[in-house]
Amino acid sequence: MAITKKQSTDLSGVPTKSKISRGGLAKQVFEYAPAPESIDHVKIQPRYGLFIGGRMVEPHSKKRFPTINPATESKLAEVVDADEVDVDHAVKAADKAFDSWARLSPSRRARYLFRISRLLQERSRELAVVETMDGGKPIKESRDVDIPLSAAHFFYYAGWADKLEWAFPNRKPRPLGVAGQVIPWNFPLLMLAWKIAPALAAGNTVVLKPAETTPLSAMVFAEICMQAELPPGVVNIVTGAGKTGSLVVSHPDVKKVAFTGSTEVGKSIQRAIAGSGKRLTLELGGKAANIVFDDAPLDQAVEGIVNGIYFNQGHVCCAGSRLLVQESIAEPLLEKLKRRLSTLRLGDPLDKNTDIGAINSRAQLEKIQGLVESGIEEGAELYQPECVLPARGFWFPPSLFTNVSQSYRIAREEIFGPVLSVLTFRTPNEAVEKANNTPYGLSAGVWTDKGSRILWMAERMRAGVVWANTFNRFDPSSPFGGYKESGFGREGGVHGLLPYLELN
Ligand code: NAP
Ligand code: MG
Repeated sequence: MAITKKQSTDLSGVPTKSKISRGGLAKQVFEYAPAPESIDHVKIQPRYGLFIGGRMVEPHSKKRFPTINPATESKLAEVVDADEVDVDHAVKAADKAFDSWARLSPSRRARYLFRISRLLQERSRELAVVETMDGGKPIKESRDVDIPLSAAHFFYYAGWADKLEWAFPNRKPRPLGVAGQVIPWNFPLLMLAWKIAPALAAGNTVVLKPAETTPLSAMVFAEICMQAELPPGVVNIVTGAGKTGSLVVSHPDVKKVAFTGSTEVGKSIQRAIAGSGKRLTLELGGKAANIVFDDAPLDQAVEGIVNGIYFNQGHVCCAGSRLLVQESIAEPLLEKLKRRLSTLRLGDPLDKNTDIGAINSRAQLEKIQGLVESGIEEGAELYQPECVLPARGFWFPPSLFTNVSQSYRIAREEIFGPVLSVLTFRTPNEAVEKANNTPYGLSAGVWTDKGSRILWMAERMRAGVVWANTFNRFDPSSPFGGYKESGFGREGGVHGLLPYLELN
């Protein structure tokens, strides 16, 4: 390991150009030797079909579009842009499979789910690389978070498949039919697992549409369904853009719609299926407050703040994107935070030492840039550590804004990038008021030494999850979901089974 005073952010083999330098904190950074994850064991096919009725089929639409690696802008594969006929085929296949899947003995359904989770584990190295190449997230995150949690979800719900009557005593839980599921690009395989595992455990069949920019791990998942010899039609995967998603959710034979994505699209889906009798769950955006009190252990809080907003480049619905810090400790906390930011390594997502990977798409990068510009125009003060951005691909340095007023767009709107807005407060009441002053209500964080204060805060915060002295912790047994414009319904835990069941 070499020690230099320059931060290593080169994307291996790619020349660097822009240099961002602001703030001027003196720093000495350890430069690590590159440690790229091998990609030799991964076979990405040049083109994919649709996974319908248990096999990969050629599409009716005959249209395909490329999916790229956002860190290099190189094309990885071509996937289908499924049309109305393709979606209809997928829903018909799921409908046909439903009766026998629902009637299958629950312990046998569980066996398939266990098999899928074992296969996810077996192919975890490959899946981590695919996830990182297709979406831009650091390999250490896909390897240590996305893939193990996806397998854990299948394990968890496999355990419930034959215990539904214990989960809901004195009720007769029955599956609903075909579930139409649409997921975003920030946690492609994990969102797939959150959707498919409970649906299948409850005895439903599914048609799932992954996001346009990250379809590849879903294609590997299709192979895993075949390997697991899952009965044909129980899982169907159709790729495409927003239009394909809208065809899935509005298909008349889809009985339940599960959507994760933006609040705007969530609202349009709610309107589109109103009056149809379809069941709906929406997991939408967020603008979470991460609240640090003056008695919090500051170094620990700094790690939690960094994890809260810079994990997965801030492409996290429950990201702690608003830091609320008690006025008396704002100065030392910000100093520590800025110093910590300057040690984050941005660059090749496949490098095991990378902290900040690529922004998922050009469109998302432009959205982040636009909101950051609005922050500067409205009067906030931007801090970015010295950071070299690779010449190709989509990148944004870890950033934080101080001097932020609650009315600024950067304090109200979801940026969905590595950008933190810092606000201050004086009293616990003011902290609660500011934390709840948002149309969203997905998550929150509280940092304090006092247990009683944690409970006091948790009681008052309108957020589906409140983390205490930690952030972004997930477990399949713990329900997750929002209030207000963050959506409704819960995923994870026993609660996550409910949206997929009729209870008599
Ligand atoms: P998005 O634009 O709403 O897209 C989500 C998914 O919906 C994608 O597959 C998208 O396809 C599809 N879609 C687009 N228009 C549609 C329509 N009219 N009908 C049906 N489907 C449609 O959101 P995104 O930008 O991909 O994801 C980021 C958002 O997701 C953020 O707001 C974030 O907070 C939220 N999110 C929430 C959670 C949670 O659990 N609450 C988790 C992760 C992300 P294309 O990919 O082709 O556009
Ligand atoms: Mg991609």
